[in-house]
Amino acid sequence: MPTCIFCNILSDLAPAQFVYHDELCAAFMDIRPINPGHVLVVPRVHAALLSELDQASAGRLLQVAQRVDAALRASGLPCEGVNLFLADGRPAGQEVLHVHLHVIPRFHGDGHHLRFSSAYFTATAVTELEKNADLIRTCMGGKV
Ligand code: 5GP
Ligand code: ZN
Repeated sequence: MPTCIFCNILSDLAPAQFVYHDELCAAFMDIRPINPGHVLVVPRVHAALLSELDQASAGRLLQVAQRVDAALRASGLPCEGVNLFLADGRPAGQEVLHVHLHVIPRFHGDGHHLRFSSAYFTATAVTELEKNADLIRTCMGGKV
């Protein structure tokens, strides 16, 4: 396996500014923050994709992100809102192939935008929604 920068950080082989750690997850400052206070929540176990991560670590990831979110709002850093972002796979924008959840403080006028193509603004036919839901349901393995 090629060297993973987040595994190195979690093993203290590379530096980072930690804000939290437990037996399943850690949280540290993003080296290239979108806004001041941008934190990455990272599982201790190496998994490239969310679907490869055990459920306990995946669940803890969101619990830690919830606490970071609250801490950011109380920190005094500019934070009027928070974006959680997880890029799962290269086409989704994942640069570091070790699962991580971005917790990004946001404020009015910070200059950042999240844009989608015009396809997003066109409602899809119900028949297509049903067809796609059926494909996903089949692979969910549980009842809905
Ligand atoms: P991705 O595009 O994979 O969702 O985001 C990867 C994030 O990891 C980027 O925001 C980037 O700034 C951050 N990052 C990359 N290398 C390092 C590093 O060595 N240390 C820290 N703290 N963050 C890193
Ligand atoms: Zn790793």
